[in-house]
Amino acid sequence: MSITAAPTPIGSLDQLSFDNRFTAALPADPDAGNNRRQVVGACYSRVEPTPVPAPHLLAHSAEIFDLLGFDTDLASNPEFAAVFGGSTLLDGMDPHAHCYGGHQFGNWAGQLGDGRAIALGEVVDRNGQHQTLQLKGAGPTPYSRTADGLAVLRSSVREFLCSEAMAHLGVPTTRALSLVATGGMVMRDMLYDGNAELEPGAVVCRVAPSFVRFGNFEIFASRGDIDTLRTLTDFVISTDFPDLAAGAGSGRSSPERYAQFFAEVVRHTADMVCEWLRVGFVHGVMNTDNMSILGLTIDYGPYGWLDNYDPDWTPNTTDAAHRRYRFGTQPAVAQWNLMQLANALYPLVGEAEPLQAALDGYVPYFEAQWSVMMAAKLGLPALETEADRELANGVLEVLRLVETDMTVFWRRLAIVDTAEGIDPAERIAPLADAYYQPSEVTDEHRSATSEFVERYAARLRALGIADAARGGAMNRVNPKYVLRNYLAQLAIDAATGGRPEAINELLDVMRRPYDDQPDREFYAAVRPDWARTRVGCSQLSCSS
Ligand code: AMP
Ligand code: MG
Repeated sequence: MSITAAPTPIGSLDQLSFDNRFTAALPADPDAGNNRRQVVGACYSRVEPTPVPAPHLLAHSAEIFDLLGFDTDLASNPEFAAVFGGSTLLDGMDPHAHCYGGHQFGNWAGQLGDGRAIALGEVVDRNGQHQTLQLKGAGPTPYSRTADGLAVLRSSVREFLCSEAMAHLGVPTTRALSLVATGGMVMRDMLYDGNAELEPGAVVCRVAPSFVRFGNFEIFASRGDIDTLRTLTDFVISTDFPDLAAGAGSGRSSPERYAQFFAEVVRHTADMVCEWLRVGFVHGVMNTDNMSILGLTIDYGPYGWLDNYDPDWTPNTTDAAHRRYRFGTQPAVAQWNLMQLANALYPLVGEAEPLQAALDGYVPYFEAQWSVMMAAKLGLPALETEADRELANGVLEVLRLVETDMTVFWRRLAIVDTAEGIDPAERIAPLADAYYQPSEVTDEHRSATSEFVERYAARLRALGIADAARGGAMNRVNPKYVLRNYLAQLAIDAATGGRPEAINELLDVMRRPYDDQPDREFYAAVRPDWARTRVGCSQLSCSS
């Protein structure tokens, strides 16, 4: 056994060193001005964050501190808030905004770009991986179009908390280093109803190996700029898809490799969406500019969590008319988005067939992953038989019979007694805690639930799976604590009212989402009735 000394923690931000591969390798916009414009032939524009009046750190992620090798004391140094609020730049940073386009709500929207995100530069984490540090809400960029480049506290709290909560759940996601209140105020019309108000501003520092989106590729394809498209794609393959890059030789990839790259993105995207279904997450704005090339959940806007299981639910009021981005449509929307990416990569591949083959692989791959995921949720080794598949579909039907809390339901299913000869009514009794309106549960609902649970119990007995082992395994994939919309809103209310500690208290619960935390039952309870229709708890607009 060899003992390696832990690397010396970074105790002062000037010790941080940057290795900016994106800006070093890719073409820059030659215009250094910060006026809104169309940017052609460039992957990014250099732009500095706008200094803020009074940066103040509200929360940080201990895990990201650790990943980046930051000393814990850094958080209390005022320089930290100044840097990650956007007021101070460090030597070696190369701040810039990405140029990208996107399909928004099904339509090509042209150039979008980082309108309020500014990447500061890349650092190497403790595992040797590059991580880009990116401020969100740090002021206008050439891509801000008609907007201000800022972010308000409520949406920044939501992004900070959800990035970290998702990571603790094991869902691929961009991370959040810090949440800084800027001391400035931002004008927002939260419900787009003509009632604009000033709200406190904030900046989140996001962290990811890459912030490249499907839209980064689409913009060049849409303009017929195949050279830049190829340069970007070669760069992404060489930095983020090392297995593909190995053997590719240096420099340009072959058409086969571009197609393999696409096939990998197909799989990563399917994996991500499958994880969303596992935990009850609705992204809310699955436009192609919000789809990460690494299959990370990115751009936490009007996202939401299912309280009661309803595949037709979307948190996004901006999408209320068509509800394109509902919980249950996410797998199909991801596939549609992948088709847009395939179209963008087509000029590099030169023929449709390999891209089509990869795209055709999406459904079978997703279904295979979904089966593995559902089997795990049910505590089954696999969905082996047709009857097993009926159990997986059956459980989702049971969840829809009456208003049933998804998260509570799965944890209660884990303690259902599968022994032979138990009275069916008694067997389903643990599930009662998951119902929102127990008085609405009819005999018909009870018998449909029993019919499913009896089949389920019989199958587990046939497989010889003991309840204790099954319950333990189920509790490792069915979280007890998720970032319920109303819990995030309570933390926002507290932070707005001068108690930002509430953000960390909530984050601390979300650190161990699968564990029973006996003194924290409050956070595991079903959504209270007052939160059913409250703005921020059940409805969110894109205004952030
Ligand atoms: P979204 O779908 O909310 O992630 O954003 C769509 C586009 O609008 C992206 O190009 C964003 O950078 C841009 N955007 C959103 N909010 C703002 C803002 N407050 N200021 C500038 N650009 C913004
Ligand atoms: Mg976005």
